Amino acid sequence: MAVAGDRILAVGSYEELKAIAGRWAEVHDLGGQVAVPGFNDSHMHLINLGQGMDGVDLSKARSVSDLVRLGQEYLRQNQDRAWIIGRGFNEETFAEKELPAKEDLDRISRDLPVFFTRVCGHICAVNSKALELAEINTNTDDPPGGSVDRALETGEPTGILRENAIDLVRRNIPSPTVEDLKRAIRSASRLAASLGLTTVQSNDLHGTRTLINRLEAYAQLAEAGELPIRVELQATMPTPEELRAYLELRKAHPTLGGKVTLGPLKLYTDGSLGGRTAALTRPYADDPATSGLPIFAQEELDELVAIAAEANLQVAVHAIGDRAIDMVMDSCEKAKRAQKDWTARPRIIHAQITRRDQLERMAKLGIVCDIQPIFVPTDLHFVEARVGRELAEFSYAWKTMARLGVPTAGGSDSPVEPCNPLWGMHAAITRRDQSGYPEEGWHPEERLTAKEALALFTAGSAYAAHEEGIKGSLSAGKLADFTVLPEDITQVDPDRLLTMKVTATYVGGQIV
Ligand SMILES: [Zn+2]
Repeated sequence: MAVAGDRILAVGSYEELKAIAGRWAEVHDLGGQVAVPGFNDSHMHLINLGQGMDGVDLSKARSVSDLVRLGQEYLRQNQDRAWIIGRGFNEETFAEKELPAKEDLDRISRDLPVFFTRVCGHICAVNSKALELAEINTNTDDPPGGSVDRALETGEPTGILRENAIDLVRRNIPSPTVEDLKRAIRSASRLAASLGLTTVQSNDLHGTRTLINRLEAYAQLAEAGELPIRVELQATMPTPEELRAYLELRKAHPTLGGKVTLGPLKLYTDGSLGGRTAALTRPYADDPATSGLPIFAQEELDELVAIAAEANLQVAVHAIGDRAIDMVMDSCEKAKRAQKDWTARPRIIHAQITRRDQLERMAKLGIVCDIQPIFVPTDLHFVEARVGRELAEFSYAWKTMARLGVPTAGGSDSPVEPCNPLWGMHAAITRRDQSGYPEEGWHPEERLTAKEALALFTAGSAYAAHEEGIKGSLSAGKLADFTVLPEDITQVDPDRLLTMKVTATYVGGQIV
């Protein structure tokens, strides 16, 4: 492969390329290793990932007392913190299988607020101090689209907050400065580059309140050449006013200096499966009192998608449950009918609990699914119990999507799951967890080939972002973004992907 500037000049035999490149060309011999198109994560949260690297890592907690111990240790080592912030716990992996209570977190601190986010990002556990600062008590009403868990008898908040109720506490956390944000982006983007990622599509913009600081952090890093990888920002703008402000901004600043671009409107239509807030068309099999929590009314979602369509802006909508997915498709179909020149491909992020008829409708509407194969090793342990056998049947149905012509893109939703694309590919190929369970794979008929799995994280993610002309394959004219691996991942035992290390990552022809 011959590279000139930041582009691929030609691909061919050594002799052919030597003739094109001339005698002064710099030669990098990969010594029998393998170059693949740069990995591209189609949906993640780079700033959250970086901030998490700075807070309490709760992913290793296997009980509530573990959680408390990790918080106490962190506090001992970080005495200057005004808030104890952590993320990544999952009570499904706890011995007691129960969410922590505020009394548990009070054992970390009574004076400092403690704010722990569940692995899914849709449920938080806080201590008494955090509730007090947020003025959440027995008299507090649930905010629209959210709920405060309460003790049955007293009605007293337990310390568990769901969906929009999380903001009642989160808004008291002092906002990070531009320097804080730069630190988070620096560490997360270096981690991403070390894992072979050359592009991440990152959902780092949330409403207009924090927009300017976040854009400023990215712009400064891009200007100073401190950003190793390309970042396309996905913007959550949940009201028409915020969406219009984002459209204005996008018009004025189509890029933020080279490696950073302003991408699609990202909306959330439901929560998570782990937290039983994903919106289903039927009650949860293991909790018939609920069928999940749609975040928008249909008309609200219609309006936002219509505004985006009018500006030919892409929409990428978080939808996990089949009811939420129906809502997104309804909105997209209406917007397509009203706006014939809406050429931006609509995307559904996650698209987990799907019915067969929905997969067919996706193909018809040209909807791209942003899937996270790495969710399967986590979710396979509880999906069927949650949603019942019938709904589980065509869920995480990647092979069926491919067969029906639904384009798919690979991502991690990091920090929800680790952003190592090789682990994502392993999950797509085996549909097993990393301990090898279940041996034949969970719904093995939906396994992908290694080639298909690689395509998810390269060509698939490029297509989702309308960048198939410049990314996703190693061919003349495309950006020289590529990843060097010690072995050909389409030929090795898939379990090898769990330990394989990336040799080098090139972005725009430069080693990063
Ligand atoms: Zn996400």
